[in-house]
Amino acid sequence: MLRASTLLYTAAIVLLSSCAMHGPREAPYVRVARDSERTGICSIHRVPLVRRSVYKYSHFDTGTVCWDEAGGAVSQKYPNVLDPSYSPTRSRDYHDPAVVRICPVCQRLFDREVKTWRPQNI
Ligand SMILES: [Zn+2]
Repeated sequence: MLRASTLLYTAAIVLLSSCAMHGPREAPYVRVARDSERTGICSIHRVPLVRRSVYKYSHFDTGTVCWDEAGGAVSQKYPNVLDPSYSPTRSRDYHDPAVVRICPVCQRLFDREVKTWRPQNI
């Protein structure tokens, strides 16, 4: 049986690794996302970013949300996608309206590829 401290330590490592956006050097996908946001054009696919009405995670006062392993890995290839701070559907945890800009090509490729990373039927 795992002790509570072991579980907390494991959870902290998972959160730290999945939320890590900044290392000693800027990761290429961070630069892509920043340049795309600045220009309004996906710097990978050369298409305009599109606005999407979404709902923002509503409990940042008590917690945060991060990519899971699959989302974190695939979003590095396609950085201009809806991140886990937002949801296209309103729910108890996501109820603050927001507008974000995404690349429709990044989002389509992300949605297709992330499925191959995630276990099915969980
Ligand atoms: Zn793109």
